[in-house]
Amino acid sequence: MDKIKIAHGSGGQYTYQLINDVFVKHFDNPILKKKDDSAILPRKNLRPVFTTDTHVVKPLFFPGGDIGKLAVTGTLNDLAVMGAHPAWLSCGMIIEEGFAIDDLEKIVISMARTADEENVKIVTGDTKVIEKGSCDGIFINTTGMGHLADSINFGVNQLESGDKILINGNIGEHAAAIITARQNFDIRFKTQSDCACVYSLIEKLTDELENIKIMRDPTRGGLATTLNEFVMEQRVGIKIDEEKIPIREQIKGFCEPLGFDPLYLANEGKFITIVKDNEAQKALSIMKSHDLGQNATILGEVTSQNPGRVILKTTIGSTRVLDMMSGEMLPRIC
Ligand code: MG
Repeated sequence: MDKIKIAHGSGGQYTYQLINDVFVKHFDNPILKKKDDSAILPRKNLRPVFTTDTHVVKPLFFPGGDIGKLAVTGTLNDLAVMGAHPAWLSCGMIIEEGFAIDDLEKIVISMARTADEENVKIVTGDTKVIEKGSCDGIFINTTGMGHLADSINFGVNQLESGDKILINGNIGEHAAAIITARQNFDIRFKTQSDCACVYSLIEKLTDELENIKIMRDPTRGGLATTLNEFVMEQRVGIKIDEEKIPIREQIKGFCEPLGFDPLYLANEGKFITIVKDNEAQKALSIMKSHDLGQNATILGEVTSQNPGRVILKTTIGSTRVLDMMSGEMLPRIC
C-alpha cells in the first residue's frame, strides 16, 4: 500500500500529484479546480458567517463516522446553530509521514460525500506532511462560511423566564461510540456516533418559528456544559427535568461503571434550542417530524430563580446544581 512521504508536503511534484489524485478528484468543483492561492466566492447579499474547527479524533474510523465526516459536520453544525445557511469549506490537513494513501482517500471521500449531501463545496485547502512520530496519523482543520438572513439574530441576552429548552434527540451516543471503539470494550449493545449535519432540521425551525432565542450544539462538555454557557453571567437560570432528557438506558448503564456522567458526554448530531414558551409545542412537532429529531423532547425551561445556574430536577424529585465540565473528560473525542 502506498504511503504518504515527506515529499507529498513539499509543495513540489508529489504535492501536485496528491492534490490532483485525491483532493481535487473527490472534492471536485470549479472553484477548487482553478488551484489559485485563494478561492474567490460569489457575492451574496446576506451576512457572511465564519467559523473554524480542528479535528483530532482517535480512532480515525469509528462506528457511525470517521475523522473526515466529523471535520465536515462539526464545522457545518457550528454555522447551522447560528441559523446560517452553510455554503463553503476549507480543508487543512496535517498528515504524518507513512500514513496510508488509501486511508487518506477514504477520509477525503467521506468529507466529499458529507459536504455534497449538504450542498456545500470544499473550495480551498492545504496539506502539510510532518515526520513520523510528530502527529498521530492525520489532523484536519476545516473553516466554514455560511450566510445569515437579516431576520435571524439569536442571542443569550434574549432569554427570559418561561422560555422552553428543547433537544433534538438522544445524548451521549458520539462519546460512547468513540470510547468503545478505542477501548475494545466487550459490550452487548450497539454504539454508533450520532455524527450528522443538522442544518436541514434547523432550517425548518427558522422558517416556521418566530421566537427562537438561541441554539447551540452540545459537543465537548455535553448537554450540561452547553446549558451553563447559556446562562453564565445572565440574569436568568435554567431548570431541566432528568426524566425528560432523551438517553438510551444502555448509554446510562455504560457510563455508570466508567464513572462518566452522560450529561457531560460529547454529541455530534445534537443541538439545543431555546424558544419562547408559546412556540415550544410547534418546535417539538417540527423536530419530531424530521429524521434528526425523532427523539426530541422539551427538557426544561428558563427561570428567573437561580440566575447563572443550571438546576437538575432528578427522577427521585430532588434537585442539584449542574456545573460546567471541569477539566478534560475524554481527550481527542472530536
Ligand atoms: Mg459548537
